[in-house]
Amino acid sequence: MREISEAWRSVRDAVPDHVTVVAVSKTKPVEAVEQAHTAGARVFGENRVQELVGKHEALTHPETGRPSEFPDLRWHQIGTLQRNKVKYIAPFVDLVHAVDQVSLLDEIEKRATSNDRKLRVLLQVHIAEEQSKFGFDTEDLPALCDRLDAGTWEHVEVAGLMGMATFTPDVVQVAREFAGLRRQFETLGDARGWSTLSMGMSGDWRIAVEEGSTMVRIGSAIFGSR
Ligand SMILES: *Cc1c(COP(=O)(O)O)cnc(C)c1O
Repeated sequence: MREISEAWRSVRDAVPDHVTVVAVSKTKPVEAVEQAHTAGARVFGENRVQELVGKHEALTHPETGRPSEFPDLRWHQIGTLQRNKVKYIAPFVDLVHAVDQVSLLDEIEKRATSNDRKLRVLLQVHIAEEQSKFGFDTEDLPALCDRLDAGTWEHVEVAGLMGMATFTPDVVQVAREFAGLRRQFETLGDARGWSTLSMGMSGDWRIAVEEGSTMVRIGSAIFGSR
């Protein structure tokens, strides 16, 4: 798996330093995570809870619950998250990228509270023209932010926004969608101290970074096709 180390390094070198690279290891074995970690990757993303928990446990010291050889490895839940799965990741997950419903915020609040921690999340915003993509509608964000400011979810820390552009070769459209999300991020987030704008994947991260992304989620360009 020498290719993984090389692929990680070329991605890390190409992405500007101020942008976090989340190495998306979904469908790949634990060894692939170890390989990327050895090459320098620290933040890993998974979209299925069962797989995320399995890999976390495989890399965690059984007694302390702390990662043994991987003390600085952090896990991000990047895809659609079902409410009934939140409890499995609440003890350890570093960031949940795709909070797309108020009921999910309620569940995260509940599980964060029972784990006596704050859980960091991003609000997923629907920016694609495609119907299939998830997320809050832009128009619903101000009211949601009012509820956040009022302290409705005390154990939830919103760190910013996440969005997925339409899957299209039309780079102008992709750039337009990312730019719209960046405007939302600034309008809503400047006063709230938001730090993280998660947009861009293997195929469109360059456009996303140009449009202001601070966090890219890269799978196939590091680990190969799935
Ligand atoms: C799989 C996935 C990615 C990474 O996709 P690549 O095209 O392989 O880089 C990014 N974000 C989400 C939400 C994903 O599910």
